[in-house]
Amino acid sequence: MDNKSVFNIDHQNSDISSKIVAGLSRISEAFKVLLWEKAKLLGLSPIQIQLLIFIAYHKSEITNVSYLAKEFNLTKPTISDAIKALYQKGLVTKEHSTADSRSYSIRLSENGKKMVTETENFANPLKGGLKGMDDAKMEQLFTTLCNLIHQLNQSGILRVQRSCYSCKYHDNKHGKDYCNLLNTQLLNTDIRLDCPEFEEITPL
Ligand code: SF4
Repeated sequence: MDNKSVFNIDHQNSDISSKIVAGLSRISEAFKVLLWEKAKLLGLSPIQIQLLIFIAYHKSEITNVSYLAKEFNLTKPTISDAIKALYQKGLVTKEHSTADSRSYSIRLSENGKKMVTETENFANPLKGGLKGMDDAKMEQLFTTLCNLIHQLNQSGILRVQRSCYSCKYHDNKHGKDYCNLLNTQLLNTDIRLDCPEFEEITPL
């Protein structure tokens, strides 16, 4: 395998896969810049915004400190501090489990929901950049991204998985992707990156 750094300009300029990785790194910077701009405007930290948006759209079973730490690749104390700050600002509430009073899920307060409506569009300028791309190219790009994300999940670099290729309901029928829960064939554009019905494959 070619082990030269993707940041070595001479190598990068002669190697398309290095250029793609450098491009993904720029896009990740753009994501950070947009998030920071929104955070500064509203007096929140970037992770606080990400937590609010995640909590808004995910079920309470996964809006706890342990899962959020995995989701955002941060330590549990870092997530706990961010949750504490959101709690003090009155943006989230804690729902304690009846089985174990020490564990709790985090939900949005009414003010938290309002804050989400002000923050959740921060990444839309990136979507705007895809305007004008034809459907076939868009589908090809999405398929490439899905495969890349799946490989990163497989290698353990991305710890959280909620996508079809890692789901126990995913099947391959006659060479086509299929969901055994929804009982439907999955076209390339139907593949989900974040599915509420996702269930992890249990290791043998
Ligand atoms: S349950 Fe969701 S993630 Fe799993 S295969 Fe079906 S659509 Fe994909």
